[in-house]
Amino acid sequence: MSSLERYSTNRVRRLIGSLNSIRFKDDTAEVEYFGQQVVILGRDAFTLIRDELTRVTGGATKVILGIAGHTVGKEEGRALLAKAKAPGVRLPQSLPVFLRLAVEETNMGYGKAKIEDFSTESGTVNISLSNGFEVDPYRHTLKPTCAFTLGYLEGIFSQLVGRDFEGKEVECKSKGDAGCKFRLAIRSESNAGTSPK
Ligand SMILES: [Zn+2]
Repeated sequence: MSSLERYSTNRVRRLIGSLNSIRFKDDTAEVEYFGQQVVILGRDAFTLIRDELTRVTGGATKVILGIAGHTVGKEEGRALLAKAKAPGVRLPQSLPVFLRLAVEETNMGYGKAKIEDFSTESGTVNISLSNGFEVDPYRHTLKPTCAFTLGYLEGIFSQLVGRDFEGKEVECKSKGDAGCKFRLAIRSESNAGTSPK
């Protein structure tokens, strides 16, 4: 690791550490985490909401959870970028370090993520996740279940890189795979449905 990389890594790590703490405001009964107001919800409650959504809407569940995850990922990316205005962090060279630490070292309780590879040239990224919170430990499914996490990863990458990312969950522990794996790529202009700027 070069001295610049080491410098960036330490700065980004400190920056994430400064956000990665939970504040209980007992007088107003609010909880703040990562600069946002949050509520503490058991995994079981999330599963129950997901199951009910599936019962009522069927296939729309993934879309709804994906949008929610995307929003949360974008907000987290925004909080990180706001903090990162300190000198030495927003260097273009430190972006890979920034992304890696943002995804691997922020603990939102979603599971342990690892960036397996990230090509800035092609804009593709492979992420593995162990202990994903959306994995159903009791039922094996035919399809991947981690739609919120997929949306979250798309959101945080889109926000931090400044390009729209989209992807899919290519392996999922809920299906019996060893773990969950996500593949993201920068959305091409032709898929975006917007005219070139
Ligand atoms: Zn999964």
